Amino acid sequence: MSEATVQGVTNVPDYFGCNVFNEETMKNRLPKNVYKSLLKTKQLGTALDTDVAEVIASAMKEWAIEKGATHYTHWFHPMTGVTAEKHDSFISPTSDGKVIMEFSGKELIKGEPDASSFPSGGLRATFEARGYTAWDPTSPAFVKDGSLYIPTAFCSYTGEILDKKTPLLRSMEVLSEQALRVLRLFGNTTATRVTTTVGPEQEYFLVDKKLYDQREDLILTGRTLFGAKAPKGQELEDHYFGNIKTRVSEYMKELDRELWKLGICSKTKHNEVAPAQHEMAPIFTTSNVAADQNALTMEIMKKVALKHGLVCLLHEKPFAGVNGSGKHNNWSMSTNDGQNLLDPGDDPKDNFQFLTFLAAIIKAVDEYSDLLRLSVASAGNDHRLGANEAPPAIISIFLGDELQTIVDALESGKMIAENQDKEFIIGVEALPNFPKDTTDRNRTSPFAFTGNKFEFRALGSADTIACTNYILNTIVAKELKGFADELENSENFAADLNKLLVKTIKEHKRIIFNGNGYDESWIEEAKRRGLPNLVSTVDAVPHFTDEKNIKVFEEFKVLTRTEIVSRTEILLENYSKIINIEALTMIDMTRKEIIPAAFTFSKELADSMVSKKTIGVNFDAEKRVADKVSCLTNQIVEAVDTLSNDLIKSKEITEAEANARFFRDTVFSSMQSLRAVVDELETITSDKVWPFPAYTDLLFRV
Ligand code: ADP
Ligand code: MG
Repeated sequence: MSEATVQGVTNVPDYFGCNVFNEETMKNRLPKNVYKSLLKTKQLGTALDTDVAEVIASAMKEWAIEKGATHYTHWFHPMTGVTAEKHDSFISPTSDGKVIMEFSGKELIKGEPDASSFPSGGLRATFEARGYTAWDPTSPAFVKDGSLYIPTAFCSYTGEILDKKTPLLRSMEVLSEQALRVLRLFGNTTATRVTTTVGPEQEYFLVDKKLYDQREDLILTGRTLFGAKAPKGQELEDHYFGNIKTRVSEYMKELDRELWKLGICSKTKHNEVAPAQHEMAPIFTTSNVAADQNALTMEIMKKVALKHGLVCLLHEKPFAGVNGSGKHNNWSMSTNDGQNLLDPGDDPKDNFQFLTFLAAIIKAVDEYSDLLRLSVASAGNDHRLGANEAPPAIISIFLGDELQTIVDALESGKMIAENQDKEFIIGVEALPNFPKDTTDRNRTSPFAFTGNKFEFRALGSADTIACTNYILNTIVAKELKGFADELENSENFAADLNKLLVKTIKEHKRIIFNGNGYDESWIEEAKRRGLPNLVSTVDAVPHFTDEKNIKVFEEFKVLTRTEIVSRTEILLENYSKIINIEALTMIDMTRKEIIPAAFTFSKELADSMVSKKTIGVNFDAEKRVADKVSCLTNQIVEAVDTLSNDLIKSKEITEAEANARFFRDTVFSSMQSLRAVVDELETITSDKVWPFPAYTDLLFRV
């Protein structure tokens, strides 16, 4: 039977987005005036009135029921890092003992989940633990597993925001406002909205479910806490873009189908660098939809894997010794009159507009590199950044040769804007052509210009992209505002623009680095340039509350001081909790599985020695191995006791940052020591007694 018949569908266009209440569905099902006011809400962020909401709710319900839904849920992004949902059924009892299916406008617009068990970083300690969810009409509702999913923002009744979507939506607003001001300066009168766009490339690992089930570390922490290297790793570079195994290919096909049904434009798929590692990249969309869809993608990736007897690992570092997984955040800005603001374009008159946006980004990344760094900080991502498989923890911008030449020319005054009849022309030297294909292959840069967008490559695979993007949007909005403030009342725009651009480049060019980010010498060079090198989560996260950072979020009303303080606390606590769980898992596995296995193996060796002795055969070999096993087992017992004592000590440190530091400096290093001896023991122990599957099985037996 062909795959198409199995699915009961033939053409992708026939079923793409079939489970989404998208614009086409709305257009078909809503009265014209209702559809129009919904579009207005989506485009301009205006409020919806209750009558309109009522009509939409009813149409949504009818549609969802046709798709087999019995429930609806407000779907939101609390600070846990995973999405949350609570399902209510549509049923409503009638007087004759039956039920009808109901869904009101009020239920669409607002929900009241009990919020007391979500992390709030002390935010609601003094308030009652009540939060509400509010419909985000800019991200489409969808049907999944018999429920209508309504994307929502999550806030407390006292106004604090408790999620990751609200700041993202706010940051998109402020960026639009400031970008439009700058566009007007260049004579654009048609654009009324600038949206930020994102295409997140998602890396993941697939392992066999039966093997996964035998490893407590994978089950509880998503990564292997022990495991000697397999004899083969990624050194042959034979996996990257290699042909795809049938089993994996079947998985990828089903993943595509499921994503397409949900209107997610899954576009590329391929094998990644590490064995058992793969990647999916969607076509880009607006930031908030991209953030919702990425969260959904991660969930679908895991669910589809189970159907194939596989487990999808989204952890940033499931295996030591081979690459971990990241998420490249391709980011740009586009206008509703059809321009990508980061596309240099062919017409030189556009180039100064492009260079102005570019300069704003350079300035933003330089002034707020600490924020970008902390937006990707997590216990999992700490394993990758700076480990020669992902960009360094030092944030820098890669422009590429062509763009660098232009920026240099600009700085040295060889290229100036002249304003004649409101059209911009380039003075003095000709502007070099921007090659069409400037896709950067320097994979070592954290923040690279790739032709018509920037690619931020430091994100971890498991994290939401919301945080990175609200930070990016806010800091760029801040610089655009500065530019607009300075230029709006200028008497001689061209001359003042020149001055501003030259000054900006001069002051912020230290953030530009086109060399090899993996090189040791870059660390020294970055230090000379005064660029921060925030090596771990614990170094990065506390910068959230630096005055300049609080100031920028407050100025643009994206986050308040209180919200930032609480978020900082949540991030640090989360870090400590993760390391704590990992340490406890290691202790458990060591005491209950590894040490007993060592004893079993010792016993086997001893038995063999005894039998050999009785028949007078030399048993030196057994003795040598047995001595080694005993010695290592001793060290393991000691190391596991040390780790367990560290955890007891950690309880005495209550302040979040100090506690996180203790986890990083003390607990984590004890974990490393324990792992080192266990891994050594694994290499000399018989496969038959080793209690869980080895790296060779996990990485090569899918
Ligand atoms: P590569 O591996 O070379 O980076 P991919 O095709 O894997 O290339 O990924 C490129 C990503 O960039 C895709 O997700 C794509 O949708 C996204 N992208 C392209 N143009 C834009 C844009 N204007 N804004 C945001 N993302 C974009
Ligand atoms: Mg990429």
